[in-house]
Parts: sequence; structure tokens; C-alpha cells
Amino acid sequence: MVPRTSRTDETDKPERIVVVGAAVLDDGRLLAARRSAPVELAGRWELPGGKVEPGERPKDALVRELREELGVDAEPGERVPGEWPLKAPYVLQVWTARLRPGSRAPEPLQDHDALRWLAPAEVWDVAWLDQDVAAVRKVETLPFF
Ligand code: C5P
Repeated sequence: MVPRTSRTDETDKPERIVVVGAAVLDDGRLLAARRSAPVELAGRWELPGGKVEPGERPKDALVRELREELGVDAEPGERVPGEWPLKAPYVLQVWTARLRPGSRAPEPLQDHDALRWLAPAEVWDVAWLDQDVAAVRKVETLPFF
């Protein structure tokens, strides 16, 4: 397994680390989560998710993060085309996700202090993190949202 922060001789740049974000969709609405920490991100809204661990598949990371952060049992769906830079070496990739039948309803268990289910007309009612805006624009174009 390649260490996730190994450097290549040619460029001396750290490898990128993927942060997975989930476009959780239910009944035509998109789940947005308001960050409670760190202080510079608190109050802004994001697609819930987090860092992929070394050796972990992005979709598995998505399911794990949604369980940890929101207490839900999620099923990952399609990759939303694109990749968006975060603070180096992190990049944001987004997958759609749905709650599995029987899943608990999402609750803000860690990192967040509020959740909202946004109908298409409400998507821009929340102050998304700057780095999530491009991803949310892409989610908006999905045919099933
Ligand atoms: O949630 P976690 O702290 O693991 O996220 C790792 C980093 O990815 C955070 O610094 C957060 O700012 C960023 N992130 C993001 N957009 C998301 C999810 C995470 O910018 N939708």
C-alpha cells in the first residue's frame, strides 16, 4: 500500500488525499450539514463527508463518514463528475448517496450542529463552504434531483 502522503522524486509534491463528500438525496431533496468546527468553517454548510483513510475505498469512506457524523446507514450511488481542490494536498470528490431502508434519520452527531433537506429551489438558501459551491452546482444538474 502506498503511504498517502508519500512524495514522488520527480515533483517533490505530496500525493493528493481525497476527501469524499456525499450528496445525500431523499425524496428529491439534498442534505446539507452545518459545520460546528473548526472555528474558521463553523456556521458554513457542506456536503457531509471526510477524508479517505489509507487503503480505504472512497465509497467505503463515504459510508463510514455518514455513519460517524450522522448516524445513518447510507448506500453510495454515482460519482458526481469532477474534482475540486481543497487546501493542499486535499481534493474533494462527491458521490450521490441514499439512506438505506430502515436507516435512522440523520442527526448531527459530530462536526455539525444543524442539518437541512433542501428542495431544488432552496439549494442556495444556505451559505455553503466556498470549496463546496462548485460541487453543489454540479449536483444541481443531476437529472434525479
Ligand atoms: O470532515 P473532515 O474534517 O474529515 O474533512 C476534512 C477536510 O475536508 C476539512 O478540512 C473540511 O474543510 C474539508 N471538507 C470540505 N467539504 C466537504 C467535506 C470536507 O471542504 N464537503
